[in-house]
Amino acid sequence: MYSQTENVDLAMIYKIKQDEQRNSKIEELASGLTDFVGSRLTASTGYARGNEWAKKKMEELGFQNVRIEEARDFPRGGWDNLKTYAAMTAPYYCNFACNPVAWTGSTNGLIKSEVVLVDVKAEADLEKYKGKLAGKIVIIPSTTTTPYEISYEPLASRYTDEQLKELSKEQLQGGRRQGQPFDFTAMMAQRQLRTKIIELLKSEGAAVILNNSGMYNIPRSNQGSGGYNAGDKEPIAELNLPMEDFGRMERLLKKSVPVEMEVEIKNNFFASPKVYNVIGEIPGTDKLLKNEVVLLGAHIDSWHGGTGAADNASGCIVMMEALRILKSLEVAPRRTIRVALWGGEEQGMFGSRGYTDRYLVDSKTNQNKPDFDKFAAYFNMDNGSGRYRGIYLQQNELVRPIFEEWLKPFADLGCSTITIRNTGGTDHQTFDRYGLPAFQFIQDEIEYDRGYHTVMDTYERLVISDLKINAIITASFAYNAAMRNDKLPRKPAMKQVQGGPGGPGGPGGPPPGM
Ligand SMILES: [Zn+2]
Repeated sequence: MYSQTENVDLAMIYKIKQDEQRNSKIEELASGLTDFVGSRLTASTGYARGNEWAKKKMEELGFQNVRIEEARDFPRGGWDNLKTYAAMTAPYYCNFACNPVAWTGSTNGLIKSEVVLVDVKAEADLEKYKGKLAGKIVIIPSTTTTPYEISYEPLASRYTDEQLKELSKEQLQGGRRQGQPFDFTAMMAQRQLRTKIIELLKSEGAAVILNNSGMYNIPRSNQGSGGYNAGDKEPIAELNLPMEDFGRMERLLKKSVPVEMEVEIKNNFFASPKVYNVIGEIPGTDKLLKNEVVLLGAHIDSWHGGTGAADNASGCIVMMEALRILKSLEVAPRRTIRVALWGGEEQGMFGSRGYTDRYLVDSKTNQNKPDFDKFAAYFNMDNGSGRYRGIYLQQNELVRPIFEEWLKPFADLGCSTITIRNTGGTDHQTFDRYGLPAFQFIQDEIEYDRGYHTVMDTYERLVISDLKINAIITASFAYNAAMRNDKLPRKPAMKQVQGGPGGPGGPGGPPPGM
């Protein structure tokens, strides 16, 4: 195989940059999808509102074939939080920031109760709580949450030149493990014990379960007992508290100081059996290539605490803006450039998997569908609001010389690092697992680790100037991929090995059930 010389159209790159600087809609899209729409938990009312908003925006921006398309069945069904209030009322009054666990139940109006510490280290300890938990608010000491340590790290960060250099080096398997080996058996034992505790709380009729978010000042949204499926009995109401509030009550109770709380939670379960994707495109114009697709994607669903700004309104906004730029420049791409905003990513990439099922590969038979051969490239964004600093090759060495050329015009924006490494945890994996060329950009972390999946993932977390740069780079990558003579090269086919690259559970393979 020889490499095609990349003829990057620098005049077009100039126009893309100019258009974003003059006509950017990033801020408008950002406040629309965060402040106006709100949180977008999969299958919630906010999620439906987000899909409708995105469809309308895509239509306004002049995208074609705009649609909200069914992706997959969603076994959990719909859930909305309608009211949440929690305060400690003894030994003194203090209201708490808190967030209910998704797909958990309600309290019977405003309830007041002592808080019971269920201190269970082994199954035998459960016995002493029998008959004592009916109607009680229950706190379970968190054995899995690492104790808080004061951080001297900056609140937000960008990659340093040294870190980018390190990232550009191959990281062979086995070279990554440092420190304590992960104790899988202990984790499973912890989980099983927690299941037993929850079973006891259910049978005893406890009113509320309190969880430690493990985070400073912030209740997380995405942790808790989980496991609800539509039609199950409503789980016990469950609240995530910031570590300080949880810790204060836990310490008081361990010193035998009685603690009381009042709590009111109102959640609504409803039928919402599908996950959807919102899709829009600029159709291709080349007689032979117009049915080939360059796909841009990000997930539109979020957790319910904040407004899912960094995770992942930012990705949706950038992908929509990239297509807006190309539309406003009236480009006539040879291939179709399509934006897809996925649903259900947070529960296991339901949206992107539904898309591959529908168009690319029958996941039951592993048979390729006709569009498989017409798939040109996929670019994903889902690492927060930070600026692109380069791209992960997902082990696809064949695209390196191409991306080197494509990134050259952006060296002065600090975006030039290419790493052979895989990055995971989001929708590009859905395509990568089938050997399709699917990539995610390297992004500055900014405040991502501190805020994602929490109530503070809101508009404030967005770095608008970074998102503009990302839209420029995405638009140019999409344009290049749509115009070059060949589709991006795919990884050469090899025998699939369980746990090996591209195999289930391996790097680039399907996630081991996330
Ligand atoms: Zn995400």
